[in-house]
Amino acid sequence: MIKTDALIIGAGPVGLFVVQQLGLIGLKAEVVDNLDKIGGQCIELYPDKPIYDIPALPECTGESLTESLLEQIKPFKTNFHLGQRVEEISKEKNNWKIVTSKKNIFSAPNIIIAAGVGSFEPRKFQIKEAEKFENNGIFYSIKDKTLFKNKKICIFGGGDSALDWAIELSKIANVTLVHRRNEFRGAEHSSEVVKKLEKEGKLKIKTPFQINSIEGNNKINSITIKNEKGEIEKIPTDCILGFFGLIMKLGPIAEWGLNLDKKTIPVNTENFQTNKEGIFAIGDICSYPGKLKLILCGFHEGALAARACFKLARPNEKYRFEFTTTSKSMQERLGIKKK
Ligand SMILES: Cc1cc2nc3c(=O)[nH]c(=O)nc-3n(C[C@H](O)[C@H](O)[C@H](O)COP(=O)(O)OP(=O)(O)OC[C@H]3O[C@@H](n4cnc5c(N)ncnc54)[C@H](O)[C@@H]3O)c2cc1C
Repeated sequence: MIKTDALIIGAGPVGLFVVQQLGLIGLKAEVVDNLDKIGGQCIELYPDKPIYDIPALPECTGESLTESLLEQIKPFKTNFHLGQRVEEISKEKNNWKIVTSKKNIFSAPNIIIAAGVGSFEPRKFQIKEAEKFENNGIFYSIKDKTLFKNKKICIFGGGDSALDWAIELSKIANVTLVHRRNEFRGAEHSSEVVKKLEKEGKLKIKTPFQINSIEGNNKINSITIKNEKGEIEKIPTDCILGFFGLIMKLGPIAEWGLNLDKKTIPVNTENFQTNKEGIFAIGDICSYPGKLKLILCGFHEGALAARACFKLARPNEKYRFEFTTTSKSMQERLGIKKK
């Protein structure tokens, strides 16, 4: 069991900034995210896109904003628990017990839900055999590419992930790229590279085809693919990779007894607490009259929620408002040495 002052659900920009706001007032935080990387929508959906409305940063990208936020919270040495979803929360005396999909357990007086639009989950194959082979031959992301060495792999999809992995894995495995359209959606350059590799005999391309069946008992032996004319081809296969993009699901958050308004969590704007004491919601996931789904609004919401967390984490201490420029304790926490 990991004890902390605040458990943050979501490592998007708003979850990252609230770590700093908590750290400044002496509160420890642990962060859990379903994705295997930090940055939420900024990293998952638009790492290279310019952002022009972050205060005092005339221009940044999703990636550079994430890097700067991480730099800003470095002094607080925060633990990130990635690749796991917060599944259950329950009250135990004065603390919340939080359990993740990897069975990590946290105990905290405060939970800050900065879960954006919910967890990003891969779109999956729609045929019935696919579930049986998930993580045993069928994968929707790659953590260790060496697992695919010398294997016969079918990669499905026409976007950047499918093209990038087809190019990368063609160096170590026997790759067939299957897409339901003749044209790929991914970057033009990647699309050209894939076609060049096909000409050189380094990978195979099958378009316009979709998956039709998967054959095998304990492991995949082969698949069949089908085109619009109904023509079927069989391909000996060890592994199947599906890259069809992500869907966003509120997921288990809907089962925690919180008031919900469509897919958002209503909060009061005094401290961003939900209908449950000690559970706060900030960023895209929260709603209140006038809410704007902008990063800068999430930063403000985090600043107020952090102060409210102090009351529950340090019930016997009085919170004092201070500026970083004049507060000795804040500067110590930031590791700033006085000249
Ligand atoms: C294409 C695009 C362009 C945009 N451009 C701008 C812009 O220019 N300026 C601007 O201000 N805003 C912009 N936005 C909006 C901005 O990205 C969001 O407002 C911001 O990402 C919200 O941050 P967040 O931290 O609240 O949530 P998110 O960034 O969505 O992060 C939430 C995180 O929570 C995780 N999570 C969810 N549920 C769970 C769970 N149960 N357990 C564990 N983890 C969970 C998710 O995996 C995710 O990583 C843009 C959005 C898009 C899609």
